[in-house]
Amino acid sequence: MSPLHTRLHELRKEKGLQQADLAALVDVRRETIGNLENGKYNPSLKLALDISHALNTPVDQIFYFDEHDHISLKRIVVCPYCKAKTVVDMTDECETSTYERQMGEEIMYEFSFSHECTSCGREMIVSGHICEYPVGAFNDEHIEVKCAEGSEDE
Ligand SMILES: [Zn+2]
Repeated sequence: MSPLHTRLHELRKEKGLQQADLAALVDVRRETIGNLENGKYNPSLKLALDISHALNTPVDQIFYFDEHDHISLKRIVVCPYCKAKTVVDMTDECETSTYERQMGEEIMYEFSFSHECTSCGREMIVSGHICEYPVGAFNDEHIEVKCAEGSEDE
């Protein structure tokens, strides 16, 4: 799991608030705000939402994983043989292409690889694409799973 980063310090200053002011608004000790700003601890979900409301800023703009992180390329697929659900990770299997769009970079991950079912041990072919659009737009994806049996490619 990636470490959680925060923009709390900058945002609080932008709003012209002292640590003690923000602490009063969300009903915690001033030290708690200081520790959050230093990344010394992660907020509870309730505290993160309280701060989001107090600063009138979406919670994922206050607390976030590395901003250069991309969308997760792990998915759950259903084995075509035994119907068990299995986790596949496309991260190391992708052909990646990027396109400059008005709102930022669009990234297309295309993949076609064989994956061994963790339940029955048989090989399936996982293919398709995942498209990561800029600025949190709805990401398009299409993933197909086929039986590998009968293909002698490998
Ligand atoms: Zn299986």
